[in-house]
Amino acid sequence: MRGIMYDLIIIGSGPAGLSAAVYGKRAGLELLVIEQSGMSGGQVLNTYEVDNYLGMQGMNGFDMGMQFRAHADKLGVSFIEETVLKIESGEKVRTVVTGKNRFETKTVIIATGASHAKLGVTGESELSGMGVSYCATCDGAFFRNRTVAVVGGGDVAVEDAIFLARACEKVYLVHRRDELRAAKILQDRLMELSNVEILWNQIVTEIEGKDQVEKMKLQNTKDHTAAEKEIDGIFVAVGIRPNTTGIEGLPDMDENGYIQAGEDGRTSMEGIFAAGDVRTKRLRQIITAVADGANAVTSVQEYLLNL
Ligand code: FAD
Repeated sequence: MRGIMYDLIIIGSGPAGLSAAVYGKRAGLELLVIEQSGMSGGQVLNTYEVDNYLGMQGMNGFDMGMQFRAHADKLGVSFIEETVLKIESGEKVRTVVTGKNRFETKTVIIATGASHAKLGVTGESELSGMGVSYCATCDGAFFRNRTVAVVGGGDVAVEDAIFLARACEKVYLVHRRDELRAAKILQDRLMELSNVEILWNQIVTEIEGKDQVEKMKLQNTKDHTAAEKEIDGIFVAVGIRPNTTGIEGLPDMDENGYIQAGEDGRTSMEGIFAAGDVRTKRLRQIITAVADGANAVTSVQEYLLNL
């Protein structure tokens, strides 16, 4: 693959990257998608059920990811499984650097998405995979008839609690405030579940266990009293962070590490575009990521015409 001058290199193959690949390929661009994971689909792969993507109500996230990738495959899009570490910007040529290769291209779309945030408490990394999880859909089945905790108060945390309540004996939802941020419809569904207990105004201070999670230590955010609960697993759903750390040479970012770009995907650097969850935007969803991919390719085409 060395020696080719690509029109476009897309970094990441979640919904934004795959949409860009489909639009780019159909526009006749010489393009390559670089994806660090063995599978395309990004965060969608970890979604139990996607109920808000137009025309695909109730679709399993994994199947959706596979379907998105199959579309790109059918058009003959080239993929390579490597992690991008650096983008070098020349006047007209950009070089995308991975651990193994250097690829030359006229334009780049950064579609590296986002990842789960961590709690940062003692026991979290030590017991990761031993009861500490960031994906209820992936790991929930291991906790059938057990007691688990979900940490967070947004859509993902409440969705996870609802999902886990189907199989687990008891689900604690630990939230640091006295009201949830999740959509009203999700809150209503949660409140109907008799095996979910919300621990309001609480933060997790430590996760304990020998070879498996056994206990979480809590602190009240108002009166600072300490408490603990016996649990078999804990699902962390406290938000996402953009996947921009570890990549050198990126365009300007905001204070949270999101690449500053509007709907057209244009960034502070010529010929480098951003699409999907990684860019500054209001709503981070599959449908907006897919739209971003299409918009970014339109900007790429405009840029190439004027090169
Ligand atoms: P991502 O899906 O994050 O994909 C980014 C890709 O880039 C990944 O494949 C990653 O491996 C790759 N990558 C990252 N860094 C590098 C690198 N350095 N080199 C190479 N490759 C790299 N949205 C909905 O619309 N409906 C829902 O019901 C829904 N439920 C969700 C449930 C959960 C649990 C989560 C986590 C998210 C959910 N979302 C939902 C949000 C939705 O999944 C995201 O908005 C969407 O996946 C963003 O797409 P993306 O392509 O921008 O990024």
